[in-house]
Amino acid sequence: MKINDLKLPLNKDESDLKKIAEKKTGIKNGYFRILKKSLDARNKSDIKKVFSVEISESPFPLPDENIKEYNYPERILIVGFGPAGMFAGLRLARAGFKPLIIERGERVEDRKKTNDAFFKFQTLNPESNIQFGEGGAGTFSDGKLNTGVNGKYSEYVLSEFVKHGAPEEIKYIYKPHIGSDILPSVVKSIREEIISLGGEIRFNSLLTGVNIKDGKVVSVTVRSNNGNEEIAVDDVILAIGHSSRDTYEALYKAGIYMEKKDCAIGFRVEHLQCDINLAQFGKDIGLTADYKLTSNKADRGVFSFCMCPGGTVVPAASEEGGVVTNGMSEYKRDKENANSAIVCQIRSSDYGDSRGVLSGIDFLRNIEKKAFMIGGGNYLAPCQNITDFMTDNLSNKFGKVKPSYFIGTKFARAEDVLPKFVCDNIRVGLADMNNKIKGFAESGVLTMPETRTSSPVRIVRDENLSAVNVSNLYPSGEVGYAGGIMSSAMDGVKIAEKIKDKYQK
Ligand SMILES: Cc1cc2nc3c(=O)[nH]c(=O)nc-3n(C[C@H](O)[C@H](O)[C@H](O)COP(=O)(O)OP(=O)(O)OC[C@H]3O[C@@H](n4cnc5c(N)ncnc54)[C@H](O)[C@@H]3O)c2cc1C
Repeated sequence: MKINDLKLPLNKDESDLKKIAEKKTGIKNGYFRILKKSLDARNKSDIKKVFSVEISESPFPLPDENIKEYNYPERILIVGFGPAGMFAGLRLARAGFKPLIIERGERVEDRKKTNDAFFKFQTLNPESNIQFGEGGAGTFSDGKLNTGVNGKYSEYVLSEFVKHGAPEEIKYIYKPHIGSDILPSVVKSIREEIISLGGEIRFNSLLTGVNIKDGKVVSVTVRSNNGNEEIAVDDVILAIGHSSRDTYEALYKAGIYMEKKDCAIGFRVEHLQCDINLAQFGKDIGLTADYKLTSNKADRGVFSFCMCPGGTVVPAASEEGGVVTNGMSEYKRDKENANSAIVCQIRSSDYGDSRGVLSGIDFLRNIEKKAFMIGGGNYLAPCQNITDFMTDNLSNKFGKVKPSYFIGTKFARAEDVLPKFVCDNIRVGLADMNNKIKGFAESGVLTMPETRTSSPVRIVRDENLSAVNVSNLYPSGEVGYAGGIMSSAMDGVKIAEKIKDKYQK
């Protein structure tokens, strides 16, 4: 039996919930679980915790794995070990498929050291960095797991994260997150399970080409420390994320059908977390506030994206000579600043036509290169106080908010980095957001650019979920079919299910 809208005062212990459910339903000593937990802060003088719970006399069923009998093919190849590739791999391995997974970056333990070296000495490894490597782009992130889609596989994905070491609460909390300090061990544990089931994962292995015959991939070329290798394949899951631009170029050259896609760009803003708490809760209630802001006051939509409470701004470049910002937080979210991307919608017509379908890559890359040059050529991020951005003035000293971008920053005008129409739209959007969170455009600092919100190109798939012109190639995740960790992971499961169906006896 489910009970919705169960409210508790902030200071009341959650262990009372089971007793309340027992009293309401008459079920004694049953199985109990919290389905949802959120905060109702509409009345700032009476903030309440709100729950949905379930109580039952019999155990709750586990999320369905749907394992049947299969004619196993020789080789299912998964390219990329981000959320889409990881969950496709896990789901297939559980059903006995023994996939081969290749990942251009390093295993997570080595990747962490490589990232730290980049932050300290500015030695970017274009193969293994914040975007590339075991766990994918979100491994060193806030690990937010919210998704707009209440997808079929969301319960499955959340349960798997918990099974592999994420906090139990992610199954029911309204806006769950794992944190950059916990995510690496979760990712490692998923890798170990896939291997224990007979799957193989090769790191430092880059897909450089696909050989297509009669509308099917027959083999792929992989470059690793051992040189180039040609690998015969039955099916390929392409879970390469949105930042692997050289791979998009290689796939396009091989004749894989793609389309331009809209995206969004802007910068990271930072405020003091205590100011955000105060604006959201009205007083210090011992909790860390987040926000999600949108504005349609300008010509283009302007919105906050990937808000990281109590977090840091992270250097997220994957190409030498380019600066990219993103955000992350540890599980406790206890750092001084709150950050989020503030971005403006970009239409594919804004890309120009430098390289046809791939023009969006050039559009974004040019902004990243400009930021690199303006920052002084050593991966410092251009930055500006928000008040100076609003009046298009160069800043000369920080206010109460200092940027947290690890490598360091250099004052610059946003208009020197980003297209003017982007800055103009964001100014209107920020002024509007200032009405929703008091002081949002009056203090704080921005670091730029935020250019990796989503892919500017989509590898088009058909109703069979395979690429329109290559029937055994399955694009998955942030190649145009997801936005974020949860939706990418769920898309990976969806593709795995498609392949399982294909080989079912
Ligand atoms: C710093 C940061 C913070 C983020 N925070 C959040 C957050 O809090 N919540 C959220 O939902 N989302 C967040 N995101 C976005 C999220 O990480 C992505 O949406 C998600 O990881 C996409 O999953 P994916 O599997 O499709 O692709 P990716 O995670 O990008 O994985 C693709 C993998 O493929 C590999 N690869 C690419 N090309 C090749 C090739 N040719 N050969 C072999 N391997 C290849 C890459 O190395 C990479 O590991 C964040 C991203 C970043 C960078």
